[in-house]
Amino acid sequence: MHILLSNDDGYLAPGLKVLADSLAEYVQLTVVAPDRNRSAASNSLTLETPIRARLAENGFYKVDGTPTDCVHLGLTGLLDAEPDMVISGPNAGPNMGDDVLYSGTVAAATEGRYLGLPAIALSMCSFEPEHYESAARAAQLLIEQLKKHPLAEDSILNVNIPDLPWGEIKGFQATRLGARHRSEGVIKQTDPRGEAIYWVGPPGEEQDAGEGTDFYATRQGFISVTPLQIDLTRYDSLQNLHQWLDTI
Ligand code: MN
Repeated sequence: MHILLSNDDGYLAPGLKVLADSLAEYVQLTVVAPDRNRSAASNSLTLETPIRARLAENGFYKVDGTPTDCVHLGLTGLLDAEPDMVISGPNAGPNMGDDVLYSGTVAAATEGRYLGLPAIALSMCSFEPEHYESAARAAQLLIEQLKKHPLAEDSILNVNIPDLPWGEIKGFQATRLGARHRSEGVIKQTDPRGEAIYWVGPPGEEQDAGEGTDFYATRQGFISVTPLQIDLTRYDSLQNLHQWLDTI
């Protein structure tokens, strides 16, 4: 089995190394990752400039592009042979609820799925994780399971792992995405020339975080596994919209 591994925290992210070392023990592995932190890059592709992919000292390809660029390159020309699966992460920080729309970690997995491969996005529930080995253990079990029992072609698995030693994790739980409140405001500062600059503020607090959600499962010590589909159509509004448009 050949796995393409990517992330959005960059090719030097400590979590990437932990997972790569673990995966390399039982699969053929190619790592293609951004050359810097590209968190929240979402599904963006670089179209206006060329992209360089260089083999780094650590044996990973570093790419001056987005996570989506990395997987796109990996599956459409950079690698000699097509991999069997795409894994993204483990991200330093959760990707739950609304986060998945912004996440570069989830986007790298999405790109794998678009290009026809099973894909898993892994995120740690802490921004300074101490237990990446738990993500590596979870990945191994999910990869084995996917090999034996493939999932629907139009979905990816969004996995969030509590930052706990493996022995303290209670198991896997199937979840739906929760939701956050509206984001905090931007943070305004002044640059040395007196011009206003802005930093995007933190995401909102959890709003829909009850039983069954990714937020709830991880807070209880479970690994949250959410099946994501890319079709954002709101089917239960279609009929109503037909009628609404007829009255124009
Ligand atoms: Mn990230």
